[in-house]
Amino acid sequence: MLNDAVLTGRRRDETSRDAAEAPRSWMPQPAPAVPAGDDVTVMRTAILAKLAYALGKTPATARDRDWFVATALALRDRAVAASAISAGIVPPKRVHYLSLEFLIGRLLSDAMGNLGVAETVRAALAGLDVDLEAVAGAEPDAALGNGGLGRLAACFMESMASLAIPAYGYGIRYDHGLFRQVIEDGVQREVPETWLAEGNPWEFERAEAACEVGFGGDVAMSVQPDGTLRRVWRPAETVRAVPYDTPVIGRGAKHVNALRLWAARAPEAIDLARFNAGDHVGAVAERARAEAISRVLYPSDGTPAGQELRLRQEFFFTSASLQDLVRRHVAERGDLRSLPDHAAIQLNDTHPAIAVPELMRLLVDVHGLSWEDAWHVTTQTLGYTNHTLMPEALETWPVELMERLLPRHMQIIYLINWMHLEEVSKHGSSPEHLAEVSLIDESHGKRVRMGHLAFLGARRVNGVSALHTELMRQTVFAPLHALDTDKIVNKTNGITFRRWLHNANPGLTALAVEAVGAKVLDDPRHLEGLAAFADDSAFQARYAAVRRERKEALARVVEERTGIALDPDALFDVQIKRIHEYKRQLLNILETVALYQAIKAEPHRDWTPRVKLFAGKAAPSYHQAKLIIRLASDVAKRVNADPDVAGRLTVAFVPNYSVSLAESIIPAADLSEQISTAGLEASGTGNMKLALNGALTIGTLDGANIEIKDHVGPDNIFIFGLDAAGVQRVQAQPGYASRAIAASARLRGALDMIAAGGFSPGEPGRFRPLVDELTHGDRFLLTADFDDYWRAQREVDAAWRRPKTWWKSAILNTARTAWFSSDRTMREYAEEIWRVRVG
Ligand SMILES: *Cc1c(COP(=O)(O)O)cnc(C)c1O
Repeated sequence: MLNDAVLTGRRRDETSRDAAEAPRSWMPQPAPAVPAGDDVTVMRTAILAKLAYALGKTPATARDRDWFVATALALRDRAVAASAISAGIVPPKRVHYLSLEFLIGRLLSDAMGNLGVAETVRAALAGLDVDLEAVAGAEPDAALGNGGLGRLAACFMESMASLAIPAYGYGIRYDHGLFRQVIEDGVQREVPETWLAEGNPWEFERAEAACEVGFGGDVAMSVQPDGTLRRVWRPAETVRAVPYDTPVIGRGAKHVNALRLWAARAPEAIDLARFNAGDHVGAVAERARAEAISRVLYPSDGTPAGQELRLRQEFFFTSASLQDLVRRHVAERGDLRSLPDHAAIQLNDTHPAIAVPELMRLLVDVHGLSWEDAWHVTTQTLGYTNHTLMPEALETWPVELMERLLPRHMQIIYLINWMHLEEVSKHGSSPEHLAEVSLIDESHGKRVRMGHLAFLGARRVNGVSALHTELMRQTVFAPLHALDTDKIVNKTNGITFRRWLHNANPGLTALAVEAVGAKVLDDPRHLEGLAAFADDSAFQARYAAVRRERKEALARVVEERTGIALDPDALFDVQIKRIHEYKRQLLNILETVALYQAIKAEPHRDWTPRVKLFAGKAAPSYHQAKLIIRLASDVAKRVNADPDVAGRLTVAFVPNYSVSLAESIIPAADLSEQISTAGLEASGTGNMKLALNGALTIGTLDGANIEIKDHVGPDNIFIFGLDAAGVQRVQAQPGYASRAIAASARLRGALDMIAAGGFSPGEPGRFRPLVDELTHGDRFLLTADFDDYWRAQREVDAAWRRPKTWWKSAILNTARTAWFSSDRTMREYAEEIWRVRVG
């Protein structure tokens, strides 16, 4: 049924109020004006045409999923139309962002927002009695990443498009992204995610741009017509890399980039001879082996990746991407010696570090450049972003495996290393120093250090927060840094505000626009204008009402997924991120247990009502992390069933953390837990999303928390615990854990209750491995930080009981976190690393 009332008469909202015109009464405003009828009719016609001709469905037979596909296809047409404006124009320089992970999430609201048609689509669908929220909810998350690193890549892609930086994102089109997490009796079970099961309307398959990637084999010599010798890699096996392009639409659709993801295919789909001989399974065995490369995302972040398939994935997408951009450069410019003038290549962590020898191979072996020219081109084109300094997460590959899988690359690595060590020895160097800076680690079997390789091959190497960059210079990369002190630079991470504020929190965005004008949508620095209203009680009430509405919505989601009812009046305390010992969810759980005991001991005190929310996935083979999930669930079970604490403390572990779940939790959070062991969280970006949406942070002086504190001010954040230097000091004192436990009755009480089976009555030993780790070693210093964490939490309780100052701090968090926009981060990369023009 057509709802003509929404179509007629009303005009598009053309007013971009500025602060001078902003209403001072802070009365709730009427709903935004509905777009003009013509736009809505055109949009509705486009969607109906897609439904009929691309899907073969009618409105009567269409499911939400069909409406989603029809809408996405209609929007994709507009993206193509927008990109056609710049099609055929060769930009002066492009960025190529290589990442094994892109944690994109859903694209519909991004696309609608940046095309400026969100209200038009809503009205177009409403006129067909179709609800936009239901349609948007039918889009599966593209979860082609594990966590922060992959989400960063997705934020950067969006910002580059919005800043009109010409760019390609390059990665793998995994059939199965990150697993779906199911929690059964507190135990995580991993279920394959099938995001492509019903196709992907955003992408274009570009079979014509496929290329071949080799593995194994040997290296031969060939005499060139001019008499020179060249080495030729003769792979034993080749895999076809087929690109799929997803348009990345920038704000206002002024610029569109492509995310080019490679799918692995066998060169021959079937061995016909074998098939005809009756071997029907064997006939497709080669194909299965080739296609395994893009089958699943490696489901771990930060644990050693000792598997050949992982190395095959890394080389597969790196080689295909470099071949692609080299081919484009040759077609557009001819001479590869000018590559650094027209292309910048960024390596997101070491996963694509094999780009260093692969680019050298393409330039020297395939295109005939001299070694010196090729090394100059390589080291002027590549940039490398480091994401971790934790020893177990620094990638190394056994030389034996590299020689077998990538024999020519191993030769090139040896040659690069030989020249590098020659250069270092010129200045007189000890064998210990040479061993430290060598690309080959010989301390336990010979292994290639991928971080060192990326470092040598890059013009600039960056860390992702001020502290992390400083630690890079002082620790893992200190010997290499000493050889070239200009190479390491800092680029503090950021998040795209279009997704994490405008789309995820339209209520807060509308309030910000009302207060400081629509210009805040283009330039987040205008958020600073909100500081002027931080003390205004009417404005505070509006701000709190937006939060309240999001908390009610989240409570519905949590109840649906866990059966646990949340009180929206309580303080919503959230820790949402990958489950990892260094992120210290266990510290939060210990504090929860201690709080539970304290409330039971003094039930009549005026406890601040709190909801503790946890969400996050554990790597499937990471037993301690899975046990932490189980403990959170078991604690939730007992606490939520105990009438003594009802209304004061509720605990929930929300299953299947994802970008979409983050989008519903973050606008509803009052308190953001960022409590990693100082020195171990390179940056964090969850911390930025939550602060921007007005959650106050309780955190350590780690990663970007330090810069968040500098921006929001020390009165608007709760800092506790050891700093990075303090962590190093304490770690040098053996036995600190037992001393800390002996000194804290509260910590002992919590540990004893867990160890005695207080949360696992049928199986008292269930959490033994967690308790043992804390009492005998405590690598992540939970015991050392516990008491100060407890103190900071009670400060939070007290602050929540002073709503005037709480909301002032919340508003100041939103007002002062504009600097954490990934637009700022991308401008810095563009200027200092890529030397590419913005806009
Ligand atoms: C932002 C984000 C992360 C990163 O969170 P941290 O707290 O920085 O570790 C991980 N997963 C998802 C889905 C995110 O949106």
